[in-house]
Amino acid sequence: ESKSIVVDKKIRTICTYCGVGCNLDVSVKDGKVKSIQAPWDSKVNPGHMCLKGRFAFSFYNHPDRIRTPLIKKNGAFVEATWDEAYDFITSKLNEIIKENGPDHIAGISSSRCPNEENYLMQKFMRAVIGTNNIDGCARICHSPTALGMQRTFGTGAATNSIEDIKCTNCMLVIGANPTDAHPVTGAKIKQAAIKDTTLIVIDPRKTELARYAHYHLQLKPGTNVAMLNLFFYYIIKENLVNISFVEQRTEGFEEFKQHILSLNINELESITGVDRDLVREAAIAYGSAKNAMSFHGLGVTEHSQGTSTVMLIANLAMITGNIGRPGVGVNPLRGQNNVQGAADMGCQPDQGAGYLDVTNDEMHALYENFYGAKLPKHIGYKIPQMYESALQDKLKAMWIIGENVVQTDPNTQMVIKALSKLDLLVVQELFMTETAKLATVILPCASFLEKEGTFTNGERRVQRVNRVVEHLPGTKPDGQVLTEIMQCMGYPQPDYSAQGVLNEIAQIVPFFKGITWENLGENGLQWPVNDGGIDTPILHKETFKRGMGTFYKQTYKESVELQEHSKDYPFIVTTNRGLEHYNSGVMTRRTPNEQLIAEDVLLIHPDDAKEYLINSGDMVCVESPRGKVDIKARISTAVKKGILSTTFHFPEVMINNLTSDICDSDALCPEYKVVAARIRKSRGK
Ligand code: SF4
Repeated sequence: ESKSIVVDKKIRTICTYCGVGCNLDVSVKDGKVKSIQAPWDSKVNPGHMCLKGRFAFSFYNHPDRIRTPLIKKNGAFVEATWDEAYDFITSKLNEIIKENGPDHIAGISSSRCPNEENYLMQKFMRAVIGTNNIDGCARICHSPTALGMQRTFGTGAATNSIEDIKCTNCMLVIGANPTDAHPVTGAKIKQAAIKDTTLIVIDPRKTELARYAHYHLQLKPGTNVAMLNLFFYYIIKENLVNISFVEQRTEGFEEFKQHILSLNINELESITGVDRDLVREAAIAYGSAKNAMSFHGLGVTEHSQGTSTVMLIANLAMITGNIGRPGVGVNPLRGQNNVQGAADMGCQPDQGAGYLDVTNDEMHALYENFYGAKLPKHIGYKIPQMYESALQDKLKAMWIIGENVVQTDPNTQMVIKALSKLDLLVVQELFMTETAKLATVILPCASFLEKEGTFTNGERRVQRVNRVVEHLPGTKPDGQVLTEIMQCMGYPQPDYSAQGVLNEIAQIVPFFKGITWENLGENGLQWPVNDGGIDTPILHKETFKRGMGTFYKQTYKESVELQEHSKDYPFIVTTNRGLEHYNSGVMTRRTPNEQLIAEDVLLIHPDDAKEYLINSGDMVCVESPRGKVDIKARISTAVKKGILSTTFHFPEVMINNLTSDICDSDALCPEYKVVAARIRKSRGK
């Protein structure tokens, strides 16, 4: 709080950026936010937040906010009233449903919106439109985590709490850069490593955390499966298997073990590019620790073998018995503030609210009865299938809430082409994003500071989001918009109240059963929450959700991208996140964070820079089989020779022009982390 300002009130809410879910004390004077502090009594972030959270208010009343509905006419946006926008949308949607059927409409919900709004979005698509074509950004980040952990454990969510870092003996961080992407968690890991906790980092880049690691395994991008199979080899060979845990709690181990012992260790070493003795030491450190925790991020999931890697991480916890007590477990670091919640609420095409299977007779009947509507019984489109269908004229309309897919989804030009083919694209947004520019109708909505609801962080903690200021004139909270459109289309949805919708959620989502607005209190509750309001900080204590934990064997497969393109494109580009900006930069670039970092750079190893006569500051052209971009080079040893690295925060570069639409075959999560590319100094620069 600035010393010169006496504030009128301080309101506790939750950060809108990453999945750590920091509590923020927001100071308000004369109806305007003045500053944000980190509360000392928070369970998630006592006295700490990162610089994204500190300035998370500067964008909310920025002059760029869209303040009236806009309808595109003859290629230009024209201001409209809310009623005109609703009339336009409902008549178009009804026309498409009548002429083509409800499956020609699809929706993408927002992981930045509260649970209540995500719940309403999937209800709107299912009960009002009549399609299961609903998905969320988890598809392009942690869908392999949800799928992989559901298969092995029965639940696709973190097993433990971040505060368990205090009582673990070994931390394995694989494919994650938490000091930039989840800074409060990153700081906890760093502090523990400085103290006395062993830290193993598996990452192609020399991240900040890698500098504190006892073992940094700097593998070649796309080789996680080979690396983890090496881990298993040494854990088995060094007799570090927790036999009693494996026998009592798991199935499929013998077959898994035989598979591991049949692998060619020389080959695995050469695939990963990491000295096998170093891997052996790290495997022994993890396998012999009293308690070991793993943390993984998008460097695991955004690969064609993402789901396979997640299942191996789960196997690693099971083979060493690191499940079901404090200081252990599998702990995915979720990217967006409410990406866990959006999935919990049913924003995926195969599972409704509470992860019930939409194709199962009993579950289908339960949903139909609860929503009082006829529901579709076949699985809908995942996000990549939506684009594919739009390109084939099988999709006529999309509704996107707060996701800037043109900038964040792979193969930008393909996404633009797909969205441009639609008859109707409705976008609920704060600002004129690259995606909003393609909309038929833009509905101006409210930021996290202007709305109520709950967010669920990466450790399954459901926390209250409190309204700090009134929403700007001309805008509406997303939940209110969804409710009004449902009502316009004839569905009897009660007028919007976040608390009312939370009560509805508690009736249908089994693990929200005991949650009420009141009992969430200041520190929230970790689901599942039982009837009596008792929450669950640690999952799978006595038994796994699916009964026995299952070992699945996995074999390394080279990325299709490298198989097809490495001859003509000798570099691998890997994309990542920076500390100063969040996602497509739409919010953070309208805060003082922009003064810290205002442009993207491409990291290039000194040997490569020398060979291509590139100096730091030179503009280089990076080209992949999909397209090319110009970007400023920075020579750095943070990347290995042959690897290039940059972020996706800046539309001026639009790095996803390069990325491919190759996906993990199970979860359809795109492979952002392995892009075949070539470089040259930009002409005339
Ligand atoms: Fe906390 Fe993440 Fe927000 Fe930073 S961005 S304040 S770590 S929730």
